Amino acid sequence: MSDLYASADLGGTTIGLALGTATGEILAQTSLLTQSHEGPERVLERIAAALVAFAKTTGQQPRGLGMGVPGLLDFATGTTLFLPNLPTQWRNVPVKAVLERHLGYPVFLLNDARLAALGENALGWGRDGSARTMVFFTVGTGIGGGVVVDGRLRLGPLGAAGEIGHQTIVPNGPLCGCGNYGCLETLASGPAIAAEAIRLMRSGMTPALHARTGGDANLVSPATVAESAATDEPLRDLIRRTGEYLGIGAGNLVTALHPDLVVIGGGVSGMGELLLAPIRETVRRRVRMFPVDGVRIECSQLGDRAGTLGGLVLAARQGDLN
Ligand SMILES: [Zn+2]
Repeated sequence: MSDLYASADLGGTTIGLALGTATGEILAQTSLLTQSHEGPERVLERIAAALVAFAKTTGQQPRGLGMGVPGLLDFATGTTLFLPNLPTQWRNVPVKAVLERHLGYPVFLLNDARLAALGENALGWGRDGSARTMVFFTVGTGIGGGVVVDGRLRLGPLGAAGEIGHQTIVPNGPLCGCGNYGCLETLASGPAIAAEAIRLMRSGMTPALHARTGGDANLVSPATVAESAATDEPLRDLIRRTGEYLGIGAGNLVTALHPDLVVIGGGVSGMGELLLAPIRETVRRRVRMFPVDGVRIECSQLGDRAGTLGGLVLAARQGDLN
């Protein structure tokens, strides 16, 4: 039997848990409600209890846990520094130490987007070793990311390298949650797409979207926008503009790093070719200093499993990112 590893993905509303192998075979998967109002200690106790019960069903003790957290952390100590979407923001919570005490095996923490980048690099498009340098965007409620340089996930001194959703795209654009104006996240995230689509729908310019959602703004999402785009031309334009913004962001990274691969992950990447085509075109148009034909630009091969598989990889490597 191959060694078993555990993976956890801490989110604002749910926590995804999985057990699997270093090669990404998922043997069991479950999720629990975060109930973050109970505070970090109770949340961590419940994660530990669930993992213990979960592992019992396999009859095998995991050899490590790789866990993604939504924010900043000290990678070396496994202490969270700032999780903006959770109550009390989990400042200085020694997650690694607490979970190791409960579980009795090593625990490794990483920012959730960086963890997904690790998963994609090790087990997705980068699996064959062809993506020594890779840029990964995770486009969902926000835009996160991770950058692999010469085979190593770049964390930087604060673990914050790879926050590529917060590069300036429009100098005096919308105010971002980070405090800057015109970040990529304010222009191309799921909520940014939905907000513009709702405006178009209310102006009567998107009959297909209106029919699909019954005019209910709560049902307007990147998925319903993509489904309606075949009929509603303004939505096709919206997706093209979103792709251009992402393409400018990707192009900046291509210029800086000349990567082998750029991957678009997260929920919005479900738009597929509709979004990829303008990204590719924009990168070609904006990067003029060297030929970019060799830079592959793809939607995530692992989709919503990237983070889970990244957790298994991190656990199997025992936190060694080299
Ligand atoms: Zn920002």
